[in-house]
Amino acid sequence: MENMKRSRHSSPERLDFTRHSDEIAKNNLTFLHNVGDGLHILNVEGNVIEANDSFCKMLGYTRDEIIGMNVAQWDAGYHERQQVYLLIETQYRCKNGALLDIEVSSLVLERDGARVIFNASRNISQRKWSEQQLRIAAIAFESQEGIMVTNADLHIICVNSAFSRITGYAEHEVIGHKPHVLSSNLQKVSFYEAMWCSIKSNGSWQGEIWNQRKSGELYLEYLTITVVNDQYDEISNYVGTFLDVTLTKEAVDKIERLAHYDSLTELPNRLLLQDRLKLALAVSQRNDRLGALILIDMDNFKILNDTLGHDRGDLLLQQVAQRLLLCVRETDTVARIGGDEFVIMLEGLCDHVTEAAAFVESMANKVLAVLSQYYQLSVHDYYCTSSMGVTLFKGHEQTADELLKQADIAMYQAKTSGRNTLRFFDPQMQTTINKRVALEKELRVAITEKQFMLYYQAQLDDSEYIVGAEVLIRWQHPKLGFISPVDFIPLAEETGLILQIGLWVLETACQQLKLWQGRELTAHLQLAVNVSSRQFYQADFVEQVLQLVSTYQINPERLKLELTESLVLDDVEDTIAKMHALRAMGIHFAMDDFGTGYSSLSNLKRLPLNQLKIDQSFVRDITSDTDDAVIVQTIIAMANKLGMEVIAEGVETQAQRLFLKNNGCLLFQGYLFSKPIPVDQFELLLKVIET
Ligand code: C2E
Ligand code: MG
Ligand code: MG
Repeated sequence: MENMKRSRHSSPERLDFTRHSDEIAKNNLTFLHNVGDGLHILNVEGNVIEANDSFCKMLGYTRDEIIGMNVAQWDAGYHERQQVYLLIETQYRCKNGALLDIEVSSLVLERDGARVIFNASRNISQRKWSEQQLRIAAIAFESQEGIMVTNADLHIICVNSAFSRITGYAEHEVIGHKPHVLSSNLQKVSFYEAMWCSIKSNGSWQGEIWNQRKSGELYLEYLTITVVNDQYDEISNYVGTFLDVTLTKEAVDKIERLAHYDSLTELPNRLLLQDRLKLALAVSQRNDRLGALILIDMDNFKILNDTLGHDRGDLLLQQVAQRLLLCVRETDTVARIGGDEFVIMLEGLCDHVTEAAAFVESMANKVLAVLSQYYQLSVHDYYCTSSMGVTLFKGHEQTADELLKQADIAMYQAKTSGRNTLRFFDPQMQTTINKRVALEKELRVAITEKQFMLYYQAQLDDSEYIVGAEVLIRWQHPKLGFISPVDFIPLAEETGLILQIGLWVLETACQQLKLWQGRELTAHLQLAVNVSSRQFYQADFVEQVLQLVSTYQINPERLKLELTESLVLDDVEDTIAKMHALRAMGIHFAMDDFGTGYSSLSNLKRLPLNQLKIDQSFVRDITSDTDDAVIVQTIIAMANKLGMEVIAEGVETQAQRLFLKNNGCLLFQGYLFSKPIPVDQFELLLKVIET
């Protein structure tokens, strides 16, 4: 541009042959040197006879160099031209190799009796470049982007066809108008103020703006406004280029909805709830007001889904969502965070915990009542209750995740205390849970570090002869000392660690049986091993046991597995099948803690059990509590009827032993005879008793 400007301003006067025709005719060529165009005179062979300064400068030669040079040395088009033209365009090659676009006007003259060619050359490179730029600009103007150019007064002076396609306005309909014709009036005055402020200070603005098509339809454009200045640095034009991003925006909004809302109920999902909760924590910190999370879980939702189908389940969830929304204020959040889990987040409660808790409790009770009214699921009337966990929050003491976990813990408490109720989170609970988490870690270490031991508790017949032992696991923690199985077996069950632990117990017992088999004193001993539910329900449990029996070459009759009633009841058919498979190989079974569960007589009859083990809770009060005495008598009678052995555990006194013996129970286990002890002590005990 700079170049163009300069050349325009200092453009040399064009050679005017008519103006100089007199001098030329008179062969007075002194004018030649003052003319701006590159003038030179060639003889008929095309050699230079005369040239002016401009010409020398144009090609980069000195005058001495140029005189005598042949036209073919610089004029690229010379050979192709057969005739002498009056006005032609060609290209000259400069001394430094650069090519110039040149316009040449020629005049054939008579000079000193010879024909000469008088050439005036003009460098038109700049013009050619400008023309090319214009062609490029014209193509670029017809791009996919809408383009609108205004003058400094903001009157539209031209638009491209993309503009017409996007806005629906033909060029003639907008020329002379202001861009305001497109305005949707959706943007505030402040929006335009900020836009013009940016244009004034940066020379441009970019952003999204809602405009209106000729049809009245709104659309979102991504607009760039750029200022064009003239040579005096005054604003001459504004150029607006824009893309229609309505579709993109719709897609983005849709994705946004999918990411943050549950499509079934249209409630915020867990992600959005977490965001809002974080915000609520910050707000509660600032305004010193409590908030609350109520976690709601529908009772027995799985049963509805399984019996009436998922469509009905979906219907129920939608109706639950509707009811919840009716229970809350507009400022509260109702979210669905999982299958049948909903959360109500209340904000701006008072700053007093007891008062806030009372308010939340009465509100949650209302929700409980509303949710337990009949649901109309197509043709079915359905009744369904819910369980709720509540936790209060203020400030940043807990994270959003911790709060959700607290509400979950409380909800779980509500479930275990009979459903259709609500529970507040209790920090005491948290302590218990933290302990459990720590214990789980320790338990994993215990497995790899082999911190477990087996203790043996003697089982005796009525002549006080030791017939065997129950193996009971002990965890010898390097720092905490002995940890009772009562404290870690349930956790091992929940975490699945029981699978490794249980297998270790079984294997250790088999090893011991193998050792005892070879010795006279111990060859008759039977070992009772406790098997937990999760361990028993492994698909390959039968194979595991048989594998151990064959590896250690033990007599399977010496191995007795203790199952509990609740284990059996989890899946009666599977239990029976597994027990039969193992029974067929000679393995024995005892029903542990008998009397504490709810196994029916009909089930009991189908189980290939060898032994019923009367739970120690009945044995304890056998001599003082007539109810317990009756229960024990019944168990003994039942076992005898079914042809099973019966053993009493927890026998601590002679009175208990006598009662049991008199009622037909002839096998005993308990502190009266021996506590559970390590194997070497147990072997000592054997020797003492047998001799
Ligand atoms: P359980 O199978 O019913 O074991 C009997 C429990 O009663 C044992 O407690 C035993 O020490 C205790 N006991 C025996 N005689 C008396 C007595 O005269 N008075 C009193 N007060 N208690 C007596 P322990 O060893 O603490 O085991 C508790 C429970 O842990 C066991 O109940 C069993 O369910 C489980 N358990 C122990 N070892 C294992 C194991 O290796 N695997 C599995 N899955 N569970 C185990
Ligand atoms: Mg047991
Ligand atoms: Mg027991």
